[in-house]
Amino acid sequence: MNIATAPKTESALPLLMVRNLRKYFAVKSDSLFGARPMVQAVDDVSFSINTGDTLGIVGESGCGKSTTARLLMHLIAPDTGEVWLAGKRLGGPAGVTLRDLRRNMQMVFQDSYASLNPRLSVQDSIAFGPRAHGVAPQQAIAKARELLVLVGLEPGQFARRYPHELSGGQRQRVNIARALALGPRLVILDEAVSALDKSVEAQVLNLLMDLKKNLQLTYLFISHDLNVVQYVSDRVLVMYLGKVVELGAVDAIYGRPRHPYTQALLASRPTMDPDIRIEKPPLVGDPPNPINPPSGCRFRTRCAYAENVCETTEPALAPCDAAAGHSVACHMLIRNSGHSRAANS
Ligand code: SF4
Repeated sequence: MNIATAPKTESALPLLMVRNLRKYFAVKSDSLFGARPMVQAVDDVSFSINTGDTLGIVGESGCGKSTTARLLMHLIAPDTGEVWLAGKRLGGPAGVTLRDLRRNMQMVFQDSYASLNPRLSVQDSIAFGPRAHGVAPQQAIAKARELLVLVGLEPGQFARRYPHELSGGQRQRVNIARALALGPRLVILDEAVSALDKSVEAQVLNLLMDLKKNLQLTYLFISHDLNVVQYVSDRVLVMYLGKVVELGAVDAIYGRPRHPYTQALLASRPTMDPDIRIEKPPLVGDPPNPINPPSGCRFRTRCAYAENVCETTEPALAPCDAAAGHSVACHMLIRNSGHSRAANS
């Protein structure tokens, strides 16, 4: 069955499954000899998203969140790794084609202006995708106007406008309509509300939540804003320097984070409560250079609990609460790892 026409019902299989995704970028080197230095942007990233869920991805800038999204859409080609959509592997025998993947998986970017063609009216921008997939022009325009209603923009007022005639919030609504034009099952929102004013951000977030419910969508929500991710997500994945360091249900990640990086990230959140004062910064310094990341655990240069084993051995992402699907990559939680705080059998 074509994935695009498959019923949008709960399935035993995750809607999206990512296995061992890796992308290293070569950078310029002054030396004529030897291997070119590589930025290890995304390294051995695996996760899955169930139908109807929202997976939030958090981490400092440069941690690989946005590169992961672009790898999923194949806007950049991964070095290695597999992407599975609804149980079918991208490019595998009898698998899903890139064209099918892109019809079922759409993306909304942070820069609402750069995402739209300045020479196309709003309705033409939204109709562009369906027309490229063979929908007749009049039908595509009718669909575009329907989508404008869905995202809260009155077609009579907005359909013939151009991107420069819209506010940032309105443009992002158009980008959301454009992403929905091919009837995707999964939408990747890459810092999609980050550039908006707080009041507009709240309106667009509410719109996204309504659309998710009404259209039975699944979201991958990437943001540096921990509060927003907590608000929208069912599960949360924490990335550090190209690696997944923690993955679990939103309540577990925010209520009982287990990885020292997640703990520091959450502790550094600004709070409005005057009784909560942070005496010393929980996370100091910048992440190390991704060209030559630290050996073993990549967080060890900033971790208060680092020991020898953290330098010599990379901690695997392993379940700390298998029943709840909570996994952490830290030697303190790996039995017999050699860390003084790890349990021994
Ligand atoms: Fe810290 Fe070691 Fe755990 Fe890494 S593995 S987070 S360095 S204790």
